Amino acid sequence: MKRSTGQDRTRTSTWRNATRAVRGGTWRSEQGETSEAIFLTSGYSYDDAATPAARFAGQEPGMTYSRTQNPSVAMLEERIALMEGAEACRAQASGMAAMTAVMLATLSAGDHMVVARAAFGPTRWVTDNLLPRFGIACTPVDGRDIDQWQAAIRPETKLFFFETPANPTMDVVDIAAVSALAKRHGILTCVDNAFATSAMQRPLEHGADIVAYAATKLMDGQGRVLAGAVCGSAEYINGTLLPYQRNTGPTLSPFAAWVVLKGLETLELRARAQAANALEVGHFLEARVPQILHPGLDSHPQRALIERQMILPGSIFSFEVDGGREAAHALLDALELIDISNNIGDTKTLITHPASTTHSSLTPQVRADMGVSEGMLRISVGLEDPADLMEDLDRALRTVGL
Ligand SMILES: *Cc1c(COP(=O)(O)O)cnc(C)c1O
Repeated sequence: MKRSTGQDRTRTSTWRNATRAVRGGTWRSEQGETSEAIFLTSGYSYDDAATPAARFAGQEPGMTYSRTQNPSVAMLEERIALMEGAEACRAQASGMAAMTAVMLATLSAGDHMVVARAAFGPTRWVTDNLLPRFGIACTPVDGRDIDQWQAAIRPETKLFFFETPANPTMDVVDIAAVSALAKRHGILTCVDNAFATSAMQRPLEHGADIVAYAATKLMDGQGRVLAGAVCGSAEYINGTLLPYQRNTGPTLSPFAAWVVLKGLETLELRARAQAANALEVGHFLEARVPQILHPGLDSHPQRALIERQMILPGSIFSFEVDGGREAAHALLDALELIDISNNIGDTKTLITHPASTTHSSLTPQVRADMGVSEGMLRISVGLEDPADLMEDLDRALRTVGL
């Protein structure tokens, strides 16, 4: 394997982000292939007995076993780290593997964390059901309110965790303010950046310590594989996360890593085009529905913060219809082009009813606390012509009298 320019930190550090997305992390074999290779291997062989001994002792770089390292996965990790502006990155088997890895690797029995309550459903299941079984306490707060973060701090608080914008309410958390508060108390801050990606928002630049990803979403971008990633300082990734990961095994497959590597090459283009489409569809819907929660529209109550913090306002937003679950389901059933799907970040426009799908495992009380109403729909806008999307929505809105 040859290091290409994509592996040379002195070269890549001067590249802009779009260049890093296409070339960052590329290694080349002796064949000189232009596209990154897929190394479907679980193990590695060595020329002599001293080599694995040196690698296991950490005295020599090199692969030993694909639970810990694999060339295709390493290329993806290097590329994501470069795009994120992070010292290091570790890929994970899924987004939830990434979120769980951060929490379990960082926290011990007796520790406490604070989580923004408007989080991804399974994330709340981990904080509310799994962590308490191991003696880790968690306080949910309204992530928009800095006083609630402050008030939740205890002497044993070790981690702040939030998503921004949050799924599906589009609550935006002030990354700089919350991270600064955490730093003053020796607390680590982790941002689940799945809705934005580095093309739309770069949390480390605003003071966050850790960025966790569902690469399943916009990074792959074409709805093909599950993948996750955790980015941070070399000390955190290699010292805290890696011992957990190499011994418990939430490892990404080389094939999935390769798919995401190829997805990243078009991330900037897709992010720009999908954000523009989402804005157009958002303007159209705003005139038709009683409520819309869209980070790109002036009606979003946190517009000033969004302008400060986000490069682009994203491709995902939510809106409400009168008539609760029945009307929301009727609207979905009337769509002909837009797919009913709880996935997001695809080139295909997808729409879901969070209360009966992604957030159905939560109690009605937790859903109400998070602001997930029965009439809420969440849409992830893709790359189709927005005129076709608006025609489809127009027809469906009429069937529910809007
Ligand atoms: C999808 C998603 C996850 C989980 O990712 P998976 O790859 O499905 O496990 C976590 N956080 C957010 C914000 C997501 O959208």
